[in-house]
Amino acid sequence: MPERSAFLSLPPTTQTITRSEIWLDDGSIVLEVDKVQFRVHRSVLSNHSSVFKGMFTLPSQPPDETMVEGCCVVRLDDQSRDWEALLRYIYYGPQYFRSRYDYPIEVLIASLRLGRKYEFEEFFSRAMGYLKYLFPYTYAFGEPGIDVGWVKNNIFDLVNIAEELGEMELLPVFYYWCLHHHHTLSIFGGWNRSDNTICHLSAESQYTLAIGKEKLVTAIFDKTWAWLASLRDVSPDECLSRNQCSEVRARHLEEALLIFRQSSLLLIPLLHKDKLSQGFCTYCRQYLGGTTLKREEVWKELPSYFGLPEWVYDYRRG
Ligand SMILES: [Zn+2]
Repeated sequence: MPERSAFLSLPPTTQTITRSEIWLDDGSIVLEVDKVQFRVHRSVLSNHSSVFKGMFTLPSQPPDETMVEGCCVVRLDDQSRDWEALLRYIYYGPQYFRSRYDYPIEVLIASLRLGRKYEFEEFFSRAMGYLKYLFPYTYAFGEPGIDVGWVKNNIFDLVNIAEELGEMELLPVFYYWCLHHHHTLSIFGGWNRSDNTICHLSAESQYTLAIGKEKLVTAIFDKTWAWLASLRDVSPDECLSRNQCSEVRARHLEEALLIFRQSSLLLIPLLHKDKLSQGFCTYCRQYLGGTTLKREEVWKELPSYFGLPEWVYDYRRG
């Protein structure tokens, strides 16, 4: 928990201070973050954050404390955009954002970063819960219940915050979606956010993704597509419709090639064994029944491709 002295040890800035729109006339405290001031309420901060609660119950204030409009100024060593997002969320609620999602990305990030630092417990756990809901870690996951564009645009920021906070259990799924949506060029060169800033991954994540991609491609190929190759072992005398089975097999292989051509590491279209075995003769279908697609195995091993510890969850059920 940051001490009171940690808040107040920052010297007054000599640069121009701007005033945020979050300037409540009856506010009782001014937060100064990164040259931006916010006038808010001690009681509101105390209700949500154990750290502020502890800070405001300290008996006295230093005599040299800066005052603005009768309010003490508390200087914080954070980014103003995080405070802007969190305070808007606290004061105006999710409807303020008019987003189809409960959490705009900036609120998610602020809830995690400031939630952890200042013990805004409810905000932190709600943000974590939401991420786990958005990005199921279960093997039986389907299409995520979110806009793919949202995932593509924000996944690097989510990787960075998970890394920053040491929430490593989120990383296997985040890394998977990085590889699903982004080419190596973006992984190394960064991704343009909608506000025209560029989000870069850490060198460690870049390295992990480069190595992990190779391992994942190999595993997907070996464990989910190699069964088609295994049909070579079916004796010509046993196959009931050699021409038809060869044709179906060739079609599947062609499809596999196209998927790998796009370098989409999709586990999703490789799901349905029943669908894949359609068109084969009953003998070949039975033969394939003895093999497994092992998609679940790929998912089980996913953290290991990224050098991460095994799932802490039951990845089969969630
Ligand atoms: Zn056959």
